[in-house]
Amino acid sequence: MSRQVSRRAFAGMAIGSSLMLAAGGLPIRRRRTSNGFEWHALAEQKAWATTNASTGGNVLVIGSRSEAMMVDAKFAGIVPLLRAEAEQRLDTGIGLLVNTHHHADHTGGNVGFTNDAEVLSHAAAVRRVAQQLERYDQQLDTGEAAMDRLVGPDKPAHLAERLESLRALARSNAAKAFVPTTTIDRYPMRRRVGELSVELHHFGPGHTDNDVVVHVPELNLLHTGDLVFNGLHPFFDQSGGVSAAGWIRSLRMTRDLCNGATAVVPGHGPITDVSGIDRQIDYLERLMENVSRAIAQGRSRDETAAMRWEFMEGLGFEQIRPRAIAAVYDELSP
Ligand SMILES: [Zn+2]
Repeated sequence: MSRQVSRRAFAGMAIGSSLMLAAGGLPIRRRRTSNGFEWHALAEQKAWATTNASTGGNVLVIGSRSEAMMVDAKFAGIVPLLRAEAEQRLDTGIGLLVNTHHHADHTGGNVGFTNDAEVLSHAAAVRRVAQQLERYDQQLDTGEAAMDRLVGPDKPAHLAERLESLRALARSNAAKAFVPTTTIDRYPMRRRVGELSVELHHFGPGHTDNDVVVHVPELNLLHTGDLVFNGLHPFFDQSGGVSAAGWIRSLRMTRDLCNGATAVVPGHGPITDVSGIDRQIDYLERLMENVSRAIAQGRSRDETAAMRWEFMEGLGFEQIRPRAIAAVYDELSP
């Protein structure tokens, strides 16, 4: 335990010293690997993803020719660490953050970018983020402790200072601090990141009414947002425009972007491939079939939500399982 803490504290100091070198105008040549977040290399280290479960939704970053993009930004309070690590790994600053949808575990970190980068989302996400600003307060309040858990209490001073400045930003104008700066005006939208072309898709309502799938064809990878929960029960948010039928349609169209070698970054859970999309389609189809049968048998909503079916066994996020059933019950009820 203590060995682990000291290793992490050392990693934290390493981040700080390399940033000081950068500020002094010296190029960063070394890529340190022992940081707070666990980063997985994709596409021969042209892309990186982090999937730490307790820190919000999964994050993908790509860089090319001094330009970089991040997809989703986790909780607000840890974004100083997240951005510092990502930029160190890419050796370049991030100028574009894409939100896959409005949920606060994917958009809290917007506060770390709205001041100096473009934050891009579906138009409906802009409205929804603006309606949930109080949700981010607690994320900022607990940020210091969350960063301590990742890199130890001896973390570099610039992380705490940056968090304090983000708190001030949020206090002075919360909407400006969190709401995306630009919206996607057509689908698919194509954006350049250095030499790479990025395609942003929206296939209609699914997990929410503002899901965006981020596809990088040249790297054969995509971030599905919360259209895919890998190894976990999917989260149904009835106030966010969820549609199980639409979710399946969106996943089928997402699947069409893939081949057998595509790296798939899900919204939550480990990085997967097209099989992770297939498993999510299968889960949702079986859920609709079983709930439809229960309704036909005259079962009540509560009774149905308490039912267990084999396809639902062995998955994480057990506490949201009844919620998924109840939402589909409402969707299928006449
Ligand atoms: Zn979500």
